[in-house]
Amino acid sequence: MPIFSGLRARLQLFLLLAMLPSLALVLYTTFHSWKLTEAYTRDETTRLVRFAASDYQRLVEGTRHLLGALASVSEVRERRGASCSALFAHFKTGYPHYANLGAIGPDGYIFCSAVPLTERTKAGDRSYFRRAVETRDFAIGDYQIGRITGMPVVVFAYPSFNNAGRLRAVVFAALDLTWLNQLAVRARLPADSTLTLLDDKGTIINRYPEPEKWIGKKYPETQLVQTVLANPGGGTTELTGLDGKERLYTYAPLFDTPRGGRVHITIGVPRDVALSELRQVLARTLGGFALATFFTLVIAGYSGRIFLMRPVKTLIGAAHRLGRGDLRVRTGLARMGGEIGELARTFDEMAESLQAREARAQQAESAVEHLAYHDALTGLPNRLLLLDRLKQAAIEAGRHGRHVAMICLDMDRFKDVNDSLGHGTGDKLLKTVAERLTQCVRPGDTLARLGDDQFGIVLTDIAKPDDIGFVQQKLKQCFTQAFRTDGHDLIVTVSAGISIFPIDGEDPDRLMRNAEAAMYQAAEQGGNNYRFYSSEMSVKTAERLRIETGLHQALEGEKGEFLLHYQPQVSLKTGVATGVEALLRWRHPDLGLVSPATFIPIAEETGQIVPIGEWALRAACVQAKAWHGQGLSLRVSVNLSARQFLDASLVETVKRILAETGVDPRLLGLELTESALIQHDETVSNALHDLKTTGLSIAIDDFGTGYSSLGYLKRLPIDYLKIDQSFVRDIATDKDDATIVVTVIAMAHGLGMKVIAEGVETDEQLQFLREHGCDEVQGFLLARPGSAGEISGFLKEKRHPRFLKIASSPKHRARKTR
Ligand code: C2E
Ligand code: MG
Ligand code: MG
Repeated sequence: MPIFSGLRARLQLFLLLAMLPSLALVLYTTFHSWKLTEAYTRDETTRLVRFAASDYQRLVEGTRHLLGALASVSEVRERRGASCSALFAHFKTGYPHYANLGAIGPDGYIFCSAVPLTERTKAGDRSYFRRAVETRDFAIGDYQIGRITGMPVVVFAYPSFNNAGRLRAVVFAALDLTWLNQLAVRARLPADSTLTLLDDKGTIINRYPEPEKWIGKKYPETQLVQTVLANPGGGTTELTGLDGKERLYTYAPLFDTPRGGRVHITIGVPRDVALSELRQVLARTLGGFALATFFTLVIAGYSGRIFLMRPVKTLIGAAHRLGRGDLRVRTGLARMGGEIGELARTFDEMAESLQAREARAQQAESAVEHLAYHDALTGLPNRLLLLDRLKQAAIEAGRHGRHVAMICLDMDRFKDVNDSLGHGTGDKLLKTVAERLTQCVRPGDTLARLGDDQFGIVLTDIAKPDDIGFVQQKLKQCFTQAFRTDGHDLIVTVSAGISIFPIDGEDPDRLMRNAEAAMYQAAEQGGNNYRFYSSEMSVKTAERLRIETGLHQALEGEKGEFLLHYQPQVSLKTGVATGVEALLRWRHPDLGLVSPATFIPIAEETGQIVPIGEWALRAACVQAKAWHGQGLSLRVSVNLSARQFLDASLVETVKRILAETGVDPRLLGLELTESALIQHDETVSNALHDLKTTGLSIAIDDFGTGYSSLGYLKRLPIDYLKIDQSFVRDIATDKDDATIVVTVIAMAHGLGMKVIAEGVETDEQLQFLREHGCDEVQGFLLARPGSAGEISGFLKEKRHPRFLKIASSPKHRARKTR
């Protein structure tokens, strides 16, 4: 993690950066002060040097006047040694800078001295004496170490003459050069400063402090001496002194010696000392600055924690909780002002909308869950929930030695309602049935919709199986009254199957399966029927499965297991076979010949009817062509299932087969049931019109069992109506059936269609149909379905003997005459 990634660290960095200009200002000011102080120090020392130089000049002048005055006093002129010495000693007390005052006689010996002499001292050889005598005026000698005082001195001399101009004496004053040291003391030079007098040859004439250590020594090669000699006018420089220390040296010429030499004064101030004060100021300033920086950072850190970090951490914490899925989290900072407040408000709003969204999703979720366990149409529990309830009920019953009943109900002929009145009405009927069934079961029981028109009921806590009879009665009553739906009073009957826990099974799946098997059995037996499960029923279910797989295998192979039987259709007018109906047969390798009534509904459900139907159509066409070749112009009718019309290529398939087999389309008939017509209204209608263009004929099969009206049929290109066997069966005995058949024949003729009666088994039926103008008949009475070979003899007959018999029967004649 980078060092300044934290918010607080960033704030501190920011402050540090913000303080940089102040630091620069401090440094600049300090530097400036440094320069000023340095300049000031230079000026001060220069002034001191100048002052020393001028002080020396004044001293020389003063000495000239003093010596001039002393030269004229009688004690000197008369060379009275004792009184002169006393007088000069007195004077000396007032002039401390003089090491000595005295007078020298023309013989060169000192006869008067303020400082008492221990022996007779000669001074005639001294330069100041000789010069004063020569020039007869004030003279300055060379600096020297005084013979009397032992101090570095410069001696000044003044000659005294008598009236005749003869030398009487030379007065002298020895100026104590160390006196200049007083100057340094008075100027309060910083510690370790130096004041040095040196001559052209680099000889130290005086040095403050510690004069005794330095005076008289020569340093011509040193940096100081070289610099001073190189700049005779004076100057200032920073260099290493004679003692090896760095100083700021200021120097100036002090006086010229009579011998043409020059004495210089230098004052050295240690740099460190000069600037130490400034350094202290700088140290204090920087220290203060550092302290201020430190406190600024501490305060920034602390206040940053309170004013920035705390809300930011709250925000981070809230974001973490939100991230972990806690949508109830709020920052609690929404009332805060500024950007953080705004951020907090935005965050809170976001959390709120997320929460609201989740709440909606959870509604939606429970709706989905409800959908997963309930039927959307009726709102009843679905199969899944029913199975769960069944499981619970079984566990509970098992514990208390009780029974549970599983009832499966299937509405009889519900498909017809859908087909004839539409799915909307079908749905409404289902809802009404669901409502009524709800009232028939106890609150603890479960009613569910299992699928299309199937319902399931779990009856819990039953003491003994016989008790179920009561519920059964109640359910039957439930359906006695018609269900009013969309203005229709619909009579509904149900086929019900019942299985009982623990007799018919212990796990819910088995109980459900067994109840369904019983229900199918009830339906197969004509409906409106309640069946308890028996073990043989599972055999039936297994059989159905066997057929399904058998069909699958038959279709996979060469389709050699399928064959067609043909049943003749005979004209009632001529007694001649006009056509045959092709009826599919399946020779199952194990089950033998399987009835179409058994396998066609299964093939329809699985869709296998499409390839099977195509096979039947081709086989029938091939046969029609063959008969035609034998001089038999027979219409061969093929049954089509509604399911085949769902296949978009049906029309194309029919046309292709016609072309492939080369059969005359007029020799092909198609039979389809009423329900097939209504089921896919538009599709079927279009297909039929298209098919009709080829010249084939179309028949409505099983007419009367559906809900179609003749008016509806009028819009379709239909050639034949086949009256269902159920009407034909009782025409001779049942007045209603007879009326229906007569009406159908009349109306069909009115619409330009011909009528074929199916399932004619007796002479009475045949006779009735003939009397009422039915066009053709088909039935066992005339011929049972058989292979092409089996029925070819029948087909070739010119006129069937039965017709001769009927025509001549007395009953017939009697009726006719009536
Ligand atoms: P369907 O089209 O109504 O055929 C007439 C059925 O009545 C045939 O039964 C026939 O054997 C039977 N039958 C004929 N005369 C009599 C009679 O006098 N008395 C009695 N009791 N029955 C008679 P089958 O052959 O068992 O066919 C049953 C149904 O299977 C057919 O009813 C038809 O709907 C269907 N079917 C047969 N072949 C095919 C086919 O190739 N394709 C399709 N989709 N359905 C077929
Ligand atoms: Mg048929
Ligand atoms: Mg039929």
